[in-house]
Parts: sequence; C-alpha cells; structure tokens
Amino acid sequence: MTSPMIYLDYNSSTPVDPKVLEAMLPYFKENFGNPSSQGHSWGWTADHAVQKARLQIATLLNCESREIIFTSGATESNNWVLFGIFHQFARLNEKVHIISSPIEHNSVLNTLKYLENLGVEVDFIKPNSQGIISVDAVREKIKPNTKLISLMWVNNEIGSINPIQELSQLSRERKIYFHTDGTQAVGKISVDLQQTPVDLLSFSGHKIYGPKGVGVLFKRKKNLLVQLDPFLVGGGQENGDRSGTLNVPGIVGIGEACKLFQGRLTEEITHYEKLSTLLYQQLKNLFPELKLNGPELGKQRSPMNLSLTFPSVTGTDIASRLPGLGVSSGSACSTGKIASSHVLKGIGVSHEEAARTLRLSVGRFTKVEDIEVAVSHFKSLLNSK
Ligand code: PMP
Repeated sequence: MTSPMIYLDYNSSTPVDPKVLEAMLPYFKENFGNPSSQGHSWGWTADHAVQKARLQIATLLNCESREIIFTSGATESNNWVLFGIFHQFARLNEKVHIISSPIEHNSVLNTLKYLENLGVEVDFIKPNSQGIISVDAVREKIKPNTKLISLMWVNNEIGSINPIQELSQLSRERKIYFHTDGTQAVGKISVDLQQTPVDLLSFSGHKIYGPKGVGVLFKRKKNLLVQLDPFLVGGGQENGDRSGTLNVPGIVGIGEACKLFQGRLTEEITHYEKLSTLLYQQLKNLFPELKLNGPELGKQRSPMNLSLTFPSVTGTDIASRLPGLGVSSGSACSTGKIASSHVLKGIGVSHEEAARTLRLSVGRFTKVEDIEVAVSHFKSLLNSK
C-alpha cells in the first residue's frame, strides 16, 4: 500500500480554514455589493464587512483599524512601500538610501534592484550564519539620507527571526521609516504593534489560513504619521491610499483568519513547536548527519519551519525523490540551470548543499500521524539507495 500524500509546505501557502470559507461565502453571493456604493443596503453591507475585517486585523496586531490598508498580498504591500518612498523623495529631488538584507523575499529584493537602476542607493546587510541581522551592523550603515530600513521579521526559508523590536527602535530614534515584511510572522509569533515601533508592515492572507490574492499594509498613523505616496491611483478607495474596488470576500477572509488566532496564538505555536520538534528528532535519528539551517529550534526561529540539509547519501535533487511529500526545495530549476536559493547562499550554504536542502513546514492541520507518514517517506528514500 502506498503512503498518503503529506503536505509540509505551510510556509508556502495554507489551506483556507473552513470557518474562514464559511464567513466569505455570503460575500460572493447575496452580499455581493460594492462597498463604495453608499446609496443602498448592498453597499452598506459590504462596507460594514470591510470595516469589521479591518477591526479583526487591528485587534490581532494591536493597532488601529485606520492603520490597516487592504492590498492584493504581501508582494504588492512590499512593492508599494519601496516605490512609495522612492517617489516621495524623487519628487523633492532628494537622493534615497535604503538599508535591507540579501535574504529578503524576492518581492523586496527584486524591487530594490529595480530601484537601484533608478538611482536609489541600497546597502544590503549580510546576516550572520543563522540568518539574523545585527542591530550594530544596521546602525553603522545609517547615513544622513537613509530614508528607509526594510528588514523581514521572519525569514520564509530558514525561519530566522530578526530582532525587530531593537531594529525598529533604532529607526525610530534616527527618524528613519522602518518597514518589515511580516508575512511569516503574523499568526506564527506574537506581533504587537503597540510594543514594536515598526512604521510599515506587510503580510498576505494565504499564509494564515485565509485566501490568496488579499493582503495588508499596516501604515502607522499615530505617534508618527507615515507619509507614503499611493501605489494605485483611481477612485480613491482606502482613503485615497489604494484605489480599486475592494476584494470584499478576500477581505472578509483575511479578517476572519486573523480573528481565529485571537486568544489562541500560544496554543497554535505550541502545536507547531511540538510537530517540528518531533519531525526534526525523527529525521535526525534516520540521518545523524542532518544539518539544520538557521537558528536552533526554540531560539529566534519560526516554530513551524525546518530547513534541513540532508547527507549526501540521499543524492542530489532530493525533493524529486519524495513525490509523496509536499515540501520545498533549497534549489530550483530556472532557465535550464539549477540555482540555489538566495537565502541559503546568503548564509553560506554551498550550491551542492542547497541541492540537498529541503524546507519542511508544519501547520494548523498537520497531525502527529502525518509526521509518522512523512518520516516513512524518508525511510524509503534511505532504503532505495
Ligand atoms: N514575503 C514573504 C516572506 C513571503 O514568504 C511571501 C510568500 N512566499 C511573500 C512576501 C509574497 O507573498 P504573496 O505571494 O502572497 O504576495
């Protein structure tokens, strides 16, 4: 009998929680109105749902509803911050310097590369071997024209957690905007925007059991009013910050997804930690030379993520030899060549090791039995050698 397929790629995307789907469905059907239509009840119902979602998100993040702006996802939110800052200062003929890191998600990295071609100066701070950015290294790079520091909260490949509290505090003291890509932080670790003075934060619905194609940009309005040019211009939705008819079902979904973490984030994190630890221990028993990339379990590391380099006994292209597992590979085929992930490269993992590296990430619906089945897939890999 063949083992069932096991999904261990929750860092990549999550299934929509049934409660989230249930909350969304009426907004595809009877409550289909446009929230901008303020002349009838269809519009009011939709608008009310959007405001409710804004409050659900603000409650989870401990910020104000008016600081939540809906986007199409973290990619858009990240692009918006970077282009927004650029446009704002380009208009004033001011040269912009941005501080970031080489292990950001491509939606930050490639946007920064694009902006470099437009004359923006970017310093990419090298992380340590565990993927963590040092506050001192950032401090040293600050210049009089540094307008933005953009550093992710949690790395999507190796799970490392940056010291966002200290980094955002430093930015605040130096009067520099601080943006964090919080896509792998929200719903995975505690994110409290009253405690942590980040000015801008991005995330996506589909990483937190919400739908795809909807995300958030948190833009601080209190204590420091963030000035950021709009990204999309048109009908003036979202207070003129982001035009376009709102994706009401998606917004209801991301709101409900955030509500589901309310009061049970600790429980969720404990579940992730238990399963990641079990998976790691069992794989370590099978492959004693297994190497964990990023910080140790339980230390400045996402509770759901394992980035593992397997010993060469398994051969290269390990992911293709595990068809029964939904996992993510440390290298990918692009334009006919095998390319290592920029994150693994950024922390010093060799090209050859990256080919033997997998990211395994557990989630809300992963069960202990799933870990056992996953381990059996690895056992058969070992036996097939
Ligand atoms: N940032 C991080 C850290 C991510 O993990 C992702 C998704 N892989 C994104 C940004 C982009 O999110 P989306 O594709 O939903 O726009």
